[in-house]
This record gives sequence, C-alpha cells and structure tokens, in this order.
Amino acid sequence: MNFEEISKRRTFAIISHPDAGKTTLTEKFLLYGGAINLAGSVKGKKTAKYAVSDWMEIEKERGISVTSSVMQFNYEGFCINILDTPGHQDFSEDTYRTLMAADSAVMVIDASKGVEAQTIKLFKVCVMRKIPIFTFINKLDREARDPFELLDDIESVLGIRTCPVNWPIGSGKNFKGVYDRQTKQINKFTAANAGMKEVDTQLIELGDSKLDDYIGFDYADILRNDIELLDGASDDLDMEKVSAGELSPVFFGSALTNFGVQTFLEHFLKMTSSPLKRKTHEGYVDPMKDEFFSAFVFKIQANMNKAHRDRIAFMRICSGEYDAGMEVIHVQGNKKIRLNQSTQMMADERKIVEKAYAGDIIGVFDPGIFGIGDTLTTSNNVEFEGIPTFAPEHFARVRQVDTMKRKQFLKGVYQIAQEGAIQIFQEYNTGMEEIIVGVVGVLQFEVLTYRLKNEYNVDVKLDKLPYEHIRWIDESSTVDIDKIQGTSDMKKIKDLKDRPLLIFTHPWSIRMVEERNEGLVLSEFGKN
Ligand code: GDP
Repeated sequence: MNFEEISKRRTFAIISHPDAGKTTLTEKFLLYGGAINLAGSVKGKKTAKYAVSDWMEIEKERGISVTSSVMQFNYEGFCINILDTPGHQDFSEDTYRTLMAADSAVMVIDASKGVEAQTIKLFKVCVMRKIPIFTFINKLDREARDPFELLDDIESVLGIRTCPVNWPIGSGKNFKGVYDRQTKQINKFTAANAGMKEVDTQLIELGDSKLDDYIGFDYADILRNDIELLDGASDDLDMEKVSAGELSPVFFGSALTNFGVQTFLEHFLKMTSSPLKRKTHEGYVDPMKDEFFSAFVFKIQANMNKAHRDRIAFMRICSGEYDAGMEVIHVQGNKKIRLNQSTQMMADERKIVEKAYAGDIIGVFDPGIFGIGDTLTTSNNVEFEGIPTFAPEHFARVRQVDTMKRKQFLKGVYQIAQEGAIQIFQEYNTGMEEIIVGVVGVLQFEVLTYRLKNEYNVDVKLDKLPYEHIRWIDESSTVDIDKIQGTSDMKKIKDLKDRPLLIFTHPWSIRMVEERNEGLVLSEFGKN
C-alpha cells in the first residue's frame, strides 16, 4: 500500500461569496503548481471555456458551470485536489455536498465587504463537519475595511476564533505589503508584474530603522502598534484548535496581483491535514492504516446531451488505491461492480485515470445505480455515514401540463430527485398528491424543467411558493406531529420517506414555533 502517496494528498474546497475572488485565487494556485502557464487562462465564467461544463447545454447557453469540478496539481511534494464549489446562480446542493468530500476549507473574504451571505451558509457546513477553515482576506490592493474590524466580523458573524498569520499594511493605493508574524518580516507589495507571475518579495524586520523609509513613517508606526496589540490580544496559533475547526488562521493578500498567495499556499499546505479519517456506521476508516479501497459518492452529474444519456458519479476515495477496472462492492446496491472509465479533472481538462489514492476524487460512469452518499469498497463491512440533506431555499409546486403524462412526469421527478438534483416533497396528510420541489439555487428549477422535457418528454408548470426556510423534525422530538402549533406562514410537508418537515416564509417563525411546542427539536440538516 502506497501510504506515501496518500500522505501527500491535500484535498480542500474554496468557499466564498460570489466575486470575493475564489476563481482568481484558484488560478494563482494552479499557476504555482505549473498546471497552467499564465494565470487567467483557466477561467470559464467570462471566457466561455470552463473546466467540465460543456457537458450541459444549459451551461453553454448561460456560460456558467452548473456542477462543480475538481482540479489536481502538484506543488512542492504535495498533491493538491481543489474542489470547486459553484457559487453564482449555480449555487445548489452540490455546492454543499462538495464540502462533504473536503478535508479542509479555504474561505475567501473580500476585504472591503467582510463576511457575506453565501459564505455564512457554506461555513455552517464546514462547522458541522468540524474541518479546519483557513481564511484568505482578499483584495487588499483595493480600499479595505480595518483589519481588526474584519477579524471581529468573522468572529461575531461566524462564531469562530481567528489568528492572523500575517497582517496588512495599508490598503488600496496605500497598500504597502504584509507583515509575517512568524518570520517577523515584511513582504513589500509591488504591483509591477500585475499578477501574471509570482511577485518579488523583499524582506525587512519590524525593528529595522529602514522600515520607516521603506513603508513611510506613518505606516511603520501604525504597523508597530497593530502588531503590539495583536501579540497581546489575539489567539495563539493552536493547531489543535485549527484542526477542530475552532480557530481559523487568517491571511491577508491580493489574489489578482498575486500578492500573498504563495506564502498563503505554503503555510496552508503545512497546516492543513492529509486525508482525514472518515466515519462509518461501525467506526472510522483510516486512510493511513486501512488498506482496502473505500469511497463514497458525493455528487452525481447527469449528462444533458441526449446522445450520451450517461451520468457520472463523483466519489471521494477514503482509503486504499483505485486501479482502473477494479471490482468493488456497491454497498447500497448489495452488488459487485467494476469501476471503469474513471475520469479526473486536471486543471482544465478531463482525463482518464488509471490510478488514484485516498484523498483523490474520481468520477465514474454511472448506469443509474448510484445515489448520493453510497459506499463503494473492497472491504466486506464498511458503510460510510450518509450525506445530509441540505436546506432548500426555494419551493415550487410542479405539475405536468398534459394530464395524460402523469406517469412519465412522476418517473422523471423521482429519478432526478434520486440523483440529488432536486428534493421532492408532498403535502402532509391532506391527501393531495401534488409534488412540491425544493431547491437550493433557482437554476435547479430550470434544470428540472429542461430535463423533464428533454429526457422524459414532459412539459411542466411550476408555481413558486413563498417559503424560504425549511426545518427537519429531529427524531428526538417528543411532540405529536399533528398537534404542532404553527404560525400562519408555516406549512407541514413530508419527504419521500414520509418524514415530516416544516417550511416557513419568515425566519423568525422558526424560533416562534420552537417556543410554542415543547419537545419539538428542529434541525437545519436532514438525514438521508
Ligand atoms: P469569484 O466569484 O469568487 O470566483 O470571484 P472572481 O475570482 O471571479 O473575482 C471577482 C472579481 O474580482 C474579478 O473581476 C476579479 O478580477 C476581481 N478580483 C479578484 N481578486 C482580486 C484582488 O485581489 N484585487 C482586486 N482589485 N480585484 C480582484
């Protein structure tokens, strides 16, 4: 067993609110890994060529990627897997599910904005998983908020402690560089090479009198004060807390100008972990001990091309090695299957892989047998814990236009829901058979409509519902579901397994309903 290969793996996701600079930072990482020659050539959102997105016509039409991909590259002895988390209109359950496959997360924050809505949502999933979270505060080359204020924002909004590893000196036109608290040196900012190459850094000590000439007396003064304050007041870099996801190491920089990116990458790679153990129903699978192959499916991507109606199941390898054509047990199907045609994303292309290791992500051809969370393994008694169901934020009643096509319609929505592309619900105890669809991102409605028409030949009509919040009723609840005292904006629905849920228009009603019903325990994540 090649544990050395496994120990080199660093598998992480980058999370951010749209426009904070996730793509730009990813490009710069790839640049260091030599995966591309010049930063800026990977991107698809603005340049039409996106990693894997030509799979879907909708994507082409809109020039965005509906599903996330994985990029692998080598850097300084590490083998890095970056999981892309779709963030714009294409925000969906897949974005959350991707985080289930990561061992750590990099949170990119716009220095002029602080923590934004989408970051909060993604952050919650990281916290649930207790994975390390690293913060990159970006765009220091633009006017930024006060760095202390930014840290406060992260701590109060997200509820995680922070420890700045470096510290910015000025911002915008007056951005002078960053001070590294470990090496106690200053990296001076020069925008000269405009981010196409690694930036030249010059190092200078904090106590050096040359500092005043170097960054100007005012900034030197501010910096010395800031550092004194920080050294006295900020949390120590306690790696145990970092590993538990309780403390986030913070870095400042500018992805666009490529400033602070390399130091961030290097610190990050050292601080983050090699593939983590993963929970099974019986215990844990340990990539550094267990030799058998094990993996779980975290994403299923349907091909929208009618001529190739296949699906790709993306799985995260948790232990052992993958060899093309190997035979594994599909636990949920209770069947032996051969894993063929595995693909992997390399920067901007899809390639067939012959070999992969714990920590890696592979996409395998799926003839329609896999479900989200399924386990594949060569061991006889391993089954990973399922992937939770994430809260949809948009709901619509969906029905077929042609009543004669009810059967195809149901077949279609059920299959699409099984893939995890939408969630479906029904009225609770009203005897109505109507289907209510819940999605995380509105684009999923479009995908649903498109696929029902193209794959099942069914036209549908969607009536949007006003609900935006969902809560699962936890099994530990001791209330009679039929007697729950609701609010006027609350609705009871059930999922495919007949489990009751509550949906709300207003967020404050959730608390109210909890207060009104003793013994009612509501959960933001659903069990699969
Ligand atoms: P994403 O939506 O998070 O992937 O963000 P992008 O990487 O696409 O960046 C959004 C916009 O911000 C683009 O126009 C980038 O060029 C710009 N941007 C990203 N990083 C920086 C930075 O460090 N400084 C400045 N000034 N702009 C940046």
